[in-house]
Amino acid sequence: MEIQKNILLSEYTTIGLGGPAAYFIDFTDTENVKEIIEYVNENKMNFIVFSGGSNIIFPDRGFDGLVLKINNKGVKTHDDGNYFYAEVNAGENWDEFVRYIIESGYSGIECLSGIPGSAGATPVQNVGAYGQEVKDTIMNVTALDRRTLEEITFDNNECGFGYRTSRFKERDKDKYIIVKVLFRFEKNKQPEIKYSELQKVIDSQDNYYSLTSIKEKIKSIRDNVLKLREKKSMLINPDDTNSRSCGSFFTNPVLNESEYDRFKVLIKDLNVPVYKTGDEYKLSAAWLVENSGFVKGFKKGGVGISSKHSLALININGTTDELLAFSSEIEETVEKKFGIKLKKEPVVVSENS
Ligand SMILES: Cc1cc2nc3c(=O)[nH]c(=O)nc-3n(C[C@H](O)[C@H](O)[C@H](O)COP(=O)(O)OP(=O)(O)OC[C@H]3O[C@@H](n4cnc5c(N)ncnc54)[C@H](O)[C@@H]3O)c2cc1C
Repeated sequence: MEIQKNILLSEYTTIGLGGPAAYFIDFTDTENVKEIIEYVNENKMNFIVFSGGSNIIFPDRGFDGLVLKINNKGVKTHDDGNYFYAEVNAGENWDEFVRYIIESGYSGIECLSGIPGSAGATPVQNVGAYGQEVKDTIMNVTALDRRTLEEITFDNNECGFGYRTSRFKERDKDKYIIVKVLFRFEKNKQPEIKYSELQKVIDSQDNYYSLTSIKEKIKSIRDNVLKLREKKSMLINPDDTNSRSCGSFFTNPVLNESEYDRFKVLIKDLNVPVYKTGDEYKLSAAWLVENSGFVKGFKKGGVGISSKHSLALININGTTDELLAFSSEIEETVEKKFGIKLKKEPVVVSENS
């Protein structure tokens, strides 16, 4: 295990931002992690964990402590006749894992194709797209308590999953290091398409409904999801500045009945897209941002909004300070105009977390 010094974090993030880490370890072996944490705790060092760098924003001044890049690979599988189980090590590339599950013929994560980052980070914000979320196939998550070094396995219902969140992102933020995740796939389960944009694309092609095997169908879904993502620059492409982002920068606000009543008064007769689920109202963050004057392609210094996706804040040749100032400007304008507080989706790291 090599401890590197003065490593530029911008090279490890999809948005290309972040100054140097005082110490940096590319961690590939679970055996060593306890040793590292013991050292960090004894020396009272600042310490942060990341993996694929696709949902994290490091400060321009870097991080005065140890940055641990989770990079432990490997997938173990077994089958009990009814279900196929895949235990994936946290550092495994998420999209490669999705492709592997599709090739194995199991439905459940095909709509999550093309999402950058690691498998171990997916429970952190209950990664979701095109009608699927990882919470629907995760059986449990195994993590190390950073303080006690105890290894704990959290069953699905103990993970506190919600819309783009979990206990690992909220109440237990920075408490655990996720080392592996166990996914469970029901055998012979037909794929379900729950997202209208994806449904429309599938319907416009006559071949999907003539496919007979589950594997062919989920492959087709993957291909269509990847095409949709490509059009929005939601696939990482080093030649496409629009993809120098953290994906969506804001989550869709969720309002209760009385908050929604207040919001309706403010918007008067504007036609805002609203998705009602149970007694909650999910608003489109993209609509709020655009209707506050921040349209696709908007630039502010070295940062801006993708010309393909109004929720993707991008780094053209800017800094974290510029990005966060721009984000605050959007948040303040939206709040003034619509009374809604936007919530950032990526994790913003302070210099000495
Ligand atoms: C182009 C683009 C498109 C995207 N599309 C989507 C999308 O459709 N849906 C969606 O949900 N997200 C999307 N994202 C966001 C991102 O890809 C996911 O959140 C992804 O799961 C982050 O994985 P990562 O390994 O890069 O995490 P990192 O960015 O490295 O870390 C993110 C957070 O997770 C924590 N973390 C990471 N690994 C561990 C671990 N092993 N143990 C404990 N904590 C850990 C970090 O401390 C940090 O707080 C997109 C991002 C980009 C750039």
